[in-house]
Amino acid sequence: MSRAREIWFEEKVRTAGYESPEAFALAHELKPYRLDQLYRAATKELAPNLDAITVLPLALRETLSAEGLRLESIAPVTIQRSNDGQTSKGLFRLHDGNEVEAVLMEHWGNRTTVCISSQAGCAYACAFCSTGQAGYTRNLSAVEIFDQARFFARELATRGKKITNVVFMGQGEPFANYAAVMDAVRLLNDPEGFGLGHRHITISTVGLVPQIDAFGDEGVQVNLAISLHAPTDEQRSAIMPVNRRYPVTDLMDACARYAAKTKRKIFFEYVMLEGVNDDDASARALVKLMRGHLYHVNLIPYNATPDAPLRGTAETRIRAFQKILDAAGVATTVRTPMGRDIAAACGQLRAQTQPRAKAS
Ligand code: SAH
Repeated sequence: MSRAREIWFEEKVRTAGYESPEAFALAHELKPYRLDQLYRAATKELAPNLDAITVLPLALRETLSAEGLRLESIAPVTIQRSNDGQTSKGLFRLHDGNEVEAVLMEHWGNRTTVCISSQAGCAYACAFCSTGQAGYTRNLSAVEIFDQARFFARELATRGKKITNVVFMGQGEPFANYAAVMDAVRLLNDPEGFGLGHRHITISTVGLVPQIDAFGDEGVQVNLAISLHAPTDEQRSAIMPVNRRYPVTDLMDACARYAAKTKRKIFFEYVMLEGVNDDDASARALVKLMRGHLYHVNLIPYNATPDAPLRGTAETRIRAFQKILDAAGVATTVRTPMGRDIAAACGQLRAQTQPRAKAS
């Protein structure tokens, strides 16, 4: 069995009360090809539920279903679509009643990106992020993470489209749920299953140094994005409490080790906040950190969130900031916000069950 298939079966059969995929297969006298069919139906053919897997005998489907085996680990509660039709936000309920959000973006051409959550809530409390303002609930399992992509892949398939990119930029800190996130990557990538290439997957982290080192040793082509957001400790600690644990120098050292080891590009995310991190001095300080051709800066227009007393930088100022980076030879792009009208843009995700810190 491939590792991805094992991950999937281990989690699935546990919910039906079995210790291992072997015990499950034995109990139902399932030949290996039946397990193949089940796994392929779920991950490659994107079957919505057991009933839809008609290659399995009806009696078997009924037995598995009676035992509580479910193909889907998350249930859509609401799906909202932006006015321009390019962005869809899904709110999903987990088996224990917790809820998480994921977002599908359909870009021009056939490029599509799904932004998925790795935790219910988040413990890192970044000042500008809606998820962080609500606190942490729990880690998601590998299949719960994977199923967010599976859900939108199925939706796209009805329109003859596919997921081309997956980003771990939804709710939660992926590197605080490291093992499950790596397993979710295996499920996304499995050529016999979902089949999304590593290069089409991006993990974004708040900057957890030990995990950046571990990730550099994985030997995978998955992209790494670092939520940097400020070039000095004083500025960064003011908006990202994690900076007190892993200050800018430690973080940049970890990035240098990662780049040297993997020769892979690193994307630095920098949300533009008026009067906080958007002056010329910040741009020049950022230039000093961006050594080497593997570092790419992504400037992100701030998306207003309910309770943060922060304002986004005006577009002309963003361009001026970018110009300083450009002039110094730092590769820089400005992110196009999507789905603002349905609160589905970066940092706006917050499941409905999570309380707001204060009414607006
Ligand atoms: N915890 C991870 C992944 C989730 S955040 C991380 O910190 O990277 C994904 C990206 O959206 C991060 O770069 C994050 O800082 C950014 N972001 C958060 N809130 C935002 C907001 N209100 N406007 C714009 N970008 C935001």
